[in-house]
Amino acid sequence: MAKILDGKTLSRKILDNLSEEIAKLDKKPHLTVILVGEDPASELYVGLKKKAAEKLCIKSTILKYPQDTDEKTILDKLEELNSDKDVNAILVQLPLPKQINEKKVIEAISPKKDVDGFTPENIGKISIGVEPYAYPCTPKGVLTLLDEYNIKLEGKHAVIVGRSNIVGKPLAQMLLNKNATVTICHSYTKNLADITKTADILISAVGKNKIIRKEMIKYNSVIVDVGTSKIDGKSAGDVDFENVFESTSYITPVPGGVGPMTIASLMENVLKLFKLA
Ligand code: NAP
Repeated sequence: MAKILDGKTLSRKILDNLSEEIAKLDKKPHLTVILVGEDPASELYVGLKKKAAEKLCIKSTILKYPQDTDEKTILDKLEELNSDKDVNAILVQLPLPKQINEKKVIEAISPKKDVDGFTPENIGKISIGVEPYAYPCTPKGVLTLLDEYNIKLEGKHAVIVGRSNIVGKPLAQMLLNKNATVTICHSYTKNLADITKTADILISAVGKNKIIRKEMIKYNSVIVDVGTSKIDGKSAGDVDFENVFESTSYITPVPGGVGPMTIASLMENVLKLFKLA
């Protein structure tokens, strides 16, 4: 019988524990978010992060810039924030407008304040099996959720659909570090279903509704749906949940699966960086 990997409940537990810990601190952590432009999805995500931080008494500052902001303005601000002793966590909301080089901006964040875990130093540490200052939030949330349900990774075939720098690639490395056998698929992958059918753990991070269907999964496998898209105004995942459900051992819902775990991981990272400062 399939079981739900309940990210909503676990994230609440994590946030409650963080709240207790932060309440005991004399000085509170401070997260600063840079938001460029008026992308509604980015504004929504930043709003959720701010709300989560406020609930935990984490100080949060949102620095909003217009769509036509130049790269230098952001790089200068990052230099200032990197040396600001009052700020212990920096997040640049992606995507950035075209005139700003995202890679350059990420590289400009101090790895010790890189709450998203995207800087080359943090990603590099993960790839050589060294603890980074912060793990990327979505992959960290996925692994925390699997761990909560005692899903063993060692020797399992984990297939990830999606190879972005923020989800697929760091997650692959983190699963490899846990001794899973990892396959990464992307838009050029041929015969996707032949590969996904061999997955003990299938993680989809594409953003296309129902790209993962029943005939593409192995019976009794674990399915993690990172994807989010809007269908008739409602959030939907990559997986055809209704038809896939009975064939799985565990599965994440959308919403209520990976999304809340990402926020909880972000808050864990804020506190971790605060303690390291
Ligand atoms: P992304 O940068 O757009 O990456 C999407 C990946 O999917 C790419 O690697 C792309 O391949 C691959 N892809 C596209 N079409 C495909 C196909 N037909 N078959 C196989 N692979 C295909 O996105 P992202 O930032 O990683 O995010 C992925 C999804 O997760 C989005 O829906 C996003 O909203 C969601 N997300 C959710 C959370 C959460 O907390 N729930 C957090 C982050 C992201 P190529 O590399 O070849 O283009």
